[in-house]
Amino acid sequence: MSKTLFEKIIDRELPATIVYEDEQCIAFRDINPGAPTHILLVPRKPMPTLGDATPEDQNLLGHLMLTAPKIAAAEGFGDAFRLVVNNGAAAGQSVFHLHLHILAGRPMKWPPG
Ligand code: AMP
Repeated sequence: MSKTLFEKIIDRELPATIVYEDEQCIAFRDINPGAPTHILLVPRKPMPTLGDATPEDQNLLGHLMLTAPKIAAAEGFGDAFRLVVNNGAAAGQSVFHLHLHILAGRPMKWPPG
């Protein structure tokens, strides 16, 4: 299996502006930001979509959900940020390695487009 774009970033084969990392995940700035702060939070474990997660991923998924607010807070947006997971091409997913979008720094509309 060839590496995903995000595995290449994790392995430092592609450049990225990394803002956080630990033993389970890495976070870096989106190359095409949709908000003043737009960070991608990515598990080191490759998993194409959220729908591919299994019960054994429960702790990892919880870790991502607990880490995202810390990253938003570190960016100065602890009180207002949006998390997005696009699951599947029809939902807007383009990189098939699970990632959470952390968006902040502008008013957010609902529903998202
Ligand atoms: P999605 O469409 O939900 O799969 O999100 C993929 C995101 O990855 C998009 O917001 C892209 O702008 C972003 N992206 C693609 N290539 C890179 C890259 N080399 N570095 C940082 N972000 C990227």
